[in-house]
Amino acid sequence: MVKSHYLYFLKHNLSARLLGKKRPLLAGFKITYRCNLKCRTCPFWKKDEIDIPYEKAIAVMDEFHKLGVRLLIFEGGEPFIWREKKHRFEDLVNYAKKRFYRVGVTTNGMLPLDSSADVLWVSLDGLKKSHDLNRGKSFDTIIENVVKSSHSKILANITITSLNHHEIDDAVKFLNPLVKGITIQFYYPFPNSEDLSLPVKDRINVLDKIIYLKRKGYKILDSVRALQDLKYNSWRCHDWLIANAEPNGKMNVGCYLKGRAAIGCENCGFAAHTEISLAYDWRAGAILSGKKVFDFKILDF
Ligand code: SF4
Repeated sequence: MVKSHYLYFLKHNLSARLLGKKRPLLAGFKITYRCNLKCRTCPFWKKDEIDIPYEKAIAVMDEFHKLGVRLLIFEGGEPFIWREKKHRFEDLVNYAKKRFYRVGVTTNGMLPLDSSADVLWVSLDGLKKSHDLNRGKSFDTIIENVVKSSHSKILANITITSLNHHEIDDAVKFLNPLVKGITIQFYYPFPNSEDLSLPVKDRINVLDKIIYLKRKGYKILDSVRALQDLKYNSWRCHDWLIANAEPNGKMNVGCYLKGRAAIGCENCGFAAHTEISLAYDWRAGAILSGKKVFDFKILDF
């Protein structure tokens, strides 16, 4: 069947604006809290180890679709280690691909990057020393898996922290030839790891360097507008554009922090929320950023 993503997005936007029907468009689905790393910046692997059962995962995806979601991102823990009896992660991806326009995965990259998902985001936090300081000895394995993979859309996602902010430009230069694009976000001060979050007042320098590199042609996919707005958190958040689900099947519409930590917008650095909110507000750069990340076409078959 021929679909027009843009027609759906336009209808979605107009029905929110004119009829007040505020429905999520993108969902992050945590299918497990289990992980094969123990990153200092992650509060999730410390939770009880559960994988969502296959049938429940299908029900969550159906519910997301009913709510209006058309872009689904699998998260964890580490999504690639999800399993239930005979089912493996790829079974969830296959179902999601029938339901959603695009399917993405955020992964720590420790396992072979082999999936039919449309986009794989590999977390790479700076250069080897600071990455390994946060995530444990893993940098070399991840880079090897990125280089070996034949997947057509591997992106690097850099979470900027107090450990790596000084070398983000060098990390971008290192990663640029290895991946199809680079996205950034700032670490949120989750309880017991507040020291890893870079204070908002210290963001300007690093964001200016990223904007400079983007203008020089490096494959940074965040829009300049989003990068500028993250300096002072001066964007208007439409948090209802994003939905989330946990491995126990519990769903939320709204901020990534909902049900996970106290919401402190003054410290927000969730660039996905920034970008999708700017796209909803018709900012051309943010719309283009979404197009590049997900390879949207006027018509899709
Ligand atoms: S913390 Fe960020 S994403 Fe959450 S509601 Fe505030 S501004 Fe939006």
